Amino acid sequence: MPVLVMKFGGTSVANIDRIRRAAKRVGVEVAKGYDVIVIVSAMSGKTNELVGWVGEISPLYDAREYDAVVSSGENVTAGLMALVLQEMDIPARSWQGWQVPVRTTSAHSQARIEEIPTDNINQKFGEGMKVAVVAGFQGVSPEGRVTTLGRGGSDTTAVAFAAAFDAERCDIYTDVDGVYTTDPRISTNARKLDRIAFEEMLELASLGAKVLQTRSVELAMRYNVKLRVLSSFEEMDDNAGTLVCAEEDIMESKVVNGIAYSRDEAKMTLISVADRPGIAAAIFGPLADAGVNVDMIIQNIAEEGRTDMTFSCPVDQVLRAEKALFAAKESGSINFHDLVADKNVAKVSAVGIGMRSQSGVAAKMFKTLSNEGINIKVIATSEIKISVLIDRKYMELAVQALHDAFELEKA
Ligand code: ASP
Ligand code: MG
Repeated sequence: MPVLVMKFGGTSVANIDRIRRAAKRVGVEVAKGYDVIVIVSAMSGKTNELVGWVGEISPLYDAREYDAVVSSGENVTAGLMALVLQEMDIPARSWQGWQVPVRTTSAHSQARIEEIPTDNINQKFGEGMKVAVVAGFQGVSPEGRVTTLGRGGSDTTAVAFAAAFDAERCDIYTDVDGVYTTDPRISTNARKLDRIAFEEMLELASLGAKVLQTRSVELAMRYNVKLRVLSSFEEMDDNAGTLVCAEEDIMESKVVNGIAYSRDEAKMTLISVADRPGIAAAIFGPLADAGVNVDMIIQNIAEEGRTDMTFSCPVDQVLRAEKALFAAKESGSINFHDLVADKNVAKVSAVGIGMRSQSGVAAKMFKTLSNEGINIKVIATSEIKISVLIDRKYMELAVQALHDAFELEKA
């Protein structure tokens, strides 16, 4: 039997009524002849509540007990979903992570899946079970303790099962009807995409992260798992939602497929550092050690052996970055005249696999921003993305103007 993975997020299993509605969709797929693996999240709000309780007892909690507590929300929905399916006369059984077992690393609260043996569940399918309901977000460490995969981890559970069971597709049911060309709250012209390439989805993480855990997209890309994001609140339709797939499965692509943004960025400039071999390593090594996620980097042309080095990072990491750089200065490993932080910037990016073969995208982007009187502070490009740092107060305007300029409202 072909296998289908169906994942239901928290809002899709928020109460018994919604679990029943989700189960009806499972029933439709079973009737088509699929063996279905259902991955469930905790009821919406549940995981936050559990995390809150842990923090209330112990701010510096033991991560193993954190996992023991926060993984429990999914156990409840897995059992309830199996019961509802059984009431519908669909042979179903629930599985907690350790029962499969979903083998993970022992990095508690952010474990990675290492292996999912298929024999247990396949044996049950062989005996007539039609649906395996698996608790998402959790696994078991080599030490035999329960682990969790990081917030939003049920998406990753779903993709990992789809890969392990060679599923025909992995349907991610959520409360939005797909992936949009940009945030519909910012541009009313935002359009739902029918298809998007894995690479684009990863680049659009700032929009997509709310829809899919980034890890799940990486995993889907690595194992070429067809992912479909769709709403569990709309009529069932074989073409609903957005298919996240390999480039080869997209017939024709526009040059730009999405405008992404990241609101809380900071730009930091080291004024007058010595331009010598090893200087970049001496600056960015300590930043990495301090856990600063450096994004864009610019080194200016040197004059008289000295240069300015600019980089961007999340605004809440500025203090950490300053501390690391002043410590490096103190120790003598780097030398600079001043460190200037601009905490009022945002990043806006145009993303599209079509950029690989089309020129003029950057020019059009810059022209559009200049027409709006928006000053560009830093530019960075990759094969399929052009990003700019601008003043945060112009972020919405920039997103709207670029969305219009690249005519993303048109299919
Ligand atoms: N329930 C977990 C969370 O809220 C995992 C998930 O739903 O993906 O993060
Ligand atoms: Mg989620």
